[in-house]
This record gives sequence, C-alpha cells and structure tokens, in this order.
Amino acid sequence: MSTEVRTHTALHVLKGAVQRVLGAKWTTSTYVKEDHGRLVVRYERKPTPEELARISEEANRKITENAEVVQFEMERGEAMQHFGDSIYDLFPVPASVTILKLVNIPDWNVNCCVAKHVESTSDVGTISVDRARFRNSRREVEIEFHVESG
Ligand SMILES: [Zn+2]
Repeated sequence: MSTEVRTHTALHVLKGAVQRVLGAKWTTSTYVKEDHGRLVVRYERKPTPEELARISEEANRKITENAEVVQFEMERGEAMQHFGDSIYDLFPVPASVTILKLVNIPDWNVNCCVAKHVESTSDVGTISVDRARFRNSRREVEIEFHVESG
C-alpha cells in the first residue's frame, strides 16, 4: 500500500485521539504529502506538551489494537441519524452528494471521506506528532505528524 494511503489513514486515527484528549470536534483542513501529514482543528489555545504526548500515545495505542478501518456508503440522512454531525468536517460536502462514503474506526472516529484507506489501524505504522502550532486569529491548531513503517 502506498505511503500516502497510510499517512491519510493516520489522519483518522489522530483525529480520534485529538477529539478525546482536547475535545476538539471540528477539522478545518488536512494535508498529506508522502509520510508527512497535517491535521488542522478548531480550537481555542495551544495544546500543552503533555496533551500532545497523550495524543501521540492514544493514537499509537489505537494502532497497536489492530482495529478495523471500515469503509462503506450510506444515504446522507441515514448517516446523520446513525452518527450525527461529527461525520462532517468544516469543509462542506456539496448538497448534490446524497450517498456518503464513510470511514469508521469503531468507537474511535467516523468521518465521511472519499480518499483511500488501509484496512486496519496497524497498517498505518507508527504516528509521531512533530509539532503543534496555534493560530489565534483563526482559532485553529495545526498538528504536524509523520508515519513510520512497523
Ligand atoms: Zn479518509
């Protein structure tokens, strides 16, 4: 599997950890290039080093659980009923899209997403959180990370 598919899937694993540790629900943007990625979430302050360490720990614990990455399609209204608005990010899905592609790491993170993913969290490798930057004017935290094999 390609490195970018692993790095992209790492975004979903990391997002689950960020939601748990920071309570940050909304993703405003994402970026993936080879083994590097960036997750940008709506948040009110810079995370502490302890919080970043916990995010990294939680994400890598989910990886070692070898959790299934379930991909499926669901009608948009039904998906909202099942999972609520947290399937969305702060970049809109066009109204013309009535069937959503969903990615679910059970009891961890569910998101609509059209990209390719690995089938198990263990396929991601190891996630290293490199740095976080708080953009006060945008109320955003950018979390930079990279993945390593095995
Ligand atoms: Zn995805």
